[in-house]
Amino acid sequence: MGNFLKNNQSPLQYVTIEVDEESHIEIKEKDVCITECENKPCTYYCPTRVYSWDQESNKIKIDYTRCIECMACPYGCPYRNINWHFPRGGYGVNYQL
Ligand code: SF4
Ligand code: SF4
Repeated sequence: MGNFLKNNQSPLQYVTIEVDEESHIEIKEKDVCITECENKPCTYYCPTRVYSWDQESNKIKIDYTRCIECMACPYGCPYRNINWHFPRGGYGVNYQL
């Protein structure tokens, strides 16, 4: 998965993430992504590319292990179709390297 910042550096290299075994992100209604959401903006507004469109399974794939908790999700999905919450205590991103 490529980087996309102008300097070609991913934000992921500036953080550490304690990954929970449970995802803190899920799609509410998969059919909405397929039938309603033509442009699938989640696949480009997320700064660390958590979301991608999987052609084979015909659905959005979520790699929650890359989430830097920027909180764009609740506002970026035009259908409010993402259930996002902070990771459980002790898990998630750490910006102090
Ligand atoms: S932006 Fe929302 S509705 Fe559209 S594909 Fe992503 S999660 Fe689905
Ligand atoms: S909170 Fe930010 S980094 Fe995490 S999935 Fe949403 S847009 Fe991506």
